[in-house]
Amino acid sequence: IQSKLPGVSTTIFSVMSKLATEHNAINLSQGFPDYACDPKLIELVNKAMKDGFNQYAPMPGSTFLKETIAEKVEKLYHIKYNPETEITVTAGGTQAIFTALAAIINAGDEVIIFEPAYDSYAPTVKLLGGLVKTYELAPPGYAIDWDMVKKLFTAKTRMIILNTPQNPTGSILSSDDMKSLIKLITGTDILILSDEVYEHLIYDEQKHQSVMLYPELKQRSFIVASFGKLLHATGWKLGYCLAPERLTEEFRKVHQFNVFSVNSPMQQAIADYIKEPKNYSEIGNFFQQKRDYFRNLLAESRFKLLPCNGSYFQCASYSDISDEKDTDFSMRLIKEFGVATIPVSAFYQKATDHKIIRFCFAKENATLALAAGKLKNV
Ligand code: PMP
Ligand code: GLN
Repeated sequence: IQSKLPGVSTTIFSVMSKLATEHNAINLSQGFPDYACDPKLIELVNKAMKDGFNQYAPMPGSTFLKETIAEKVEKLYHIKYNPETEITVTAGGTQAIFTALAAIINAGDEVIIFEPAYDSYAPTVKLLGGLVKTYELAPPGYAIDWDMVKKLFTAKTRMIILNTPQNPTGSILSSDDMKSLIKLITGTDILILSDEVYEHLIYDEQKHQSVMLYPELKQRSFIVASFGKLLHATGWKLGYCLAPERLTEEFRKVHQFNVFSVNSPMQQAIADYIKEPKNYSEIGNFFQQKRDYFRNLLAESRFKLLPCNGSYFQCASYSDISDEKDTDFSMRLIKEFGVATIPVSAFYQKATDHKIIRFCFAKENATLALAAGKLKNV
């Protein structure tokens, strides 16, 4: 069979989590919490099932959940999205990304991606016959020089994918970044896919720069969010896409044949839960404490920590420890030291190796302490 994705193999997340299990290593690789989500949330799922939410939800999502999302967004950003026409509930952020791209990208269209990047973007673009134009970000700051981005523009540029806070680097976009972006795209018909799944995981009093805060960006953007991150329940695979009506119409044309609709009782439970802002308002502080705890522990190691302004990922350079390839180094960390991480080269299509690995700190403090104890010996 002729592969539609030659050169693509099993994602690094599956590979590393499997290796962690096989070698009985502490798994700081794939991003997911190792602690329970709020028991109240589980009670609400049971309740929704008992209350009969067991058949198909409406295609674009439960009305109650879409309305609750609209309220949450308005409270946080003072921006209105119409639940009827501008909000679609999806099977996690991943499906929202896939569906938005499938709705827009034609063969030959070019999509600009900032690497290192979440690993689903490039293969999805390629599957659709699109061309990936890559801007490589450089450590330690991973800043964007927008004049260089402009050089990637051609008549075929259809979309730019943003991700702030960023996976895997933990960097965030500033209001100056957004202003530069606006200057670049004003007068073009380039669309934006803004992956904001870590919107709440932003630290040190900094403000999340959602594209929705900028009318010139909002009117051309699909915004992707994930309840997996918000509720410490990545296995639920629920999220949503915000987009103006003309974009949502196209999104839903694909969504209805991709999944039709997503898990009904959980949509009901999530709506009940996030109706109370206090159920999620502390999540930023919660993860900031974990970041600080983990960074302090690693300060005693030979790893050099990169800045982490958002997300639940901490990147570190091991260039003082070894000059092995990052893939080899992370294999050795699993086998010899019992800690699984992600080699950051996995997030570049060219496998660019800056000798940096990514740790996920969405873990019990005891797990982080145990891991740090092992990492001090490296
Ligand atoms: N985008 C980014 C940047 C992510 O890190 C993730 C989760 N790993 C997703 C999208 C996908 O989110 P979900 O698990 O809700 O599909
Ligand atoms: N987003 C998670 C990470 O970056 C994992 C997502 C996945 O396993 N597909 O680690």
